[in-house]
Amino acid sequence: MIPLFEYYPALEDKLPYVKLGKLPTPVHTLEILGRKTGINSLYIKRDDLTGENYGGNKLRKLEFLLGEVLHSRAGEVITFGAAGSNHALATAFYSASLGLKSISMLVHQPNAWYVRNNLLMSLFCGAELHLYHKMPVKNLLVNPAVLFQLFRHRTKRGRFPRVIPMGGSSPRGVLGFVNAAFELKQQIMKGEIKEPDYLYVASGSMGTAAGLILGLKAAECKTKVVAVRVIDLKYVNEKAMINLISKTAIWLSSLDRSFPGTAISVRDFEIRHDFFGHQYALFSKKGMDAVRRLESDERIRLEGAYTGKAMAALLEDAQKQKINTKTVLFWNTYNSRDFSNSIAGTDYHRLPGGFHRYFEQPVQPLDY
Ligand SMILES: *Cc1c(COP(=O)(O)O)cnc(C)c1O
Repeated sequence: MIPLFEYYPALEDKLPYVKLGKLPTPVHTLEILGRKTGINSLYIKRDDLTGENYGGNKLRKLEFLLGEVLHSRAGEVITFGAAGSNHALATAFYSASLGLKSISMLVHQPNAWYVRNNLLMSLFCGAELHLYHKMPVKNLLVNPAVLFQLFRHRTKRGRFPRVIPMGGSSPRGVLGFVNAAFELKQQIMKGEIKEPDYLYVASGSMGTAAGLILGLKAAECKTKVVAVRVIDLKYVNEKAMINLISKTAIWLSSLDRSFPGTAISVRDFEIRHDFFGHQYALFSKKGMDAVRRLESDERIRLEGAYTGKAMAALLEDAQKQKINTKTVLFWNTYNSRDFSNSIAGTDYHRLPGGFHRYFEQPVQPLDY
């Protein structure tokens, strides 16, 4: 049974869930990096390994989101993101594994190798891809392009596709990381890791950090989540974080009255705004230095849009002697499963024309 249902058995009957991955993910010590940075105890949570064939943080959200889709008997899902969205790919990958069709509505972003790979892999998974120049992320359901796709698919299928928001960060998706917090609690109790003082994680649609903040508080852990913002301030900010956490908490307490209704305040977490750089998915010098450091010291591959920026925040705090006597956990959210064999034979010309530029134009200068 998953940790969330062990702690709150009443939830099991009320929350559809489909197991997609191999949980719990291991926690490892970052021995060399810890020694070099002078951090007393430095750990990494290996959510890069959530899935056997495709990992990363989105799988945890999709266990609840796609669980609900199966329960609803809708045969299709529609989701949103940037052209190289890891979330859109994870949705395509795990929908296909469950026999569901997925539709991704994507917008432009800076070019990178991972964008090419993710697009080809989404195609390989049978996803239907659409590219748009602009898409207001709020109020998706009043967006004409979204309405058009919803009705087009209903006409073909007789049913609306199920809507999964950007990044999977609805309260239902957030449950994946409330569960992850209880998973960590169990690993602490088993002695696999000391209770962290700080947990560093990249934050884009906020669901990952929101679930961890709420779950760690409910599990009575002292761990402070440091959410490193990698997207515009209007999407990740203190007020929006509290809002998402509160919505999830109120919903959970309504399903199981033993879930603590504790209010979350800005003192319960920290958002770091100084590692974003200039644009979403535009790699930064500090971020890429952090990527290279983890690669050379620990042989773990991060990337420039999310995890490199989060690791850069951790390294700078270590350099400023802010966390050296502490127990620190880095939450790795980036898939590390190699899918290059699957996409080796996939021709980008099979993608809608708008996507071809990602294969014909150079990747951004800091990518490698
Ligand atoms: C989506 C993503 C994140 C951010 O998670 P959110 O829940 O959207 O904040 C972090 N790292 C990677 C690699 C991601 O794909």
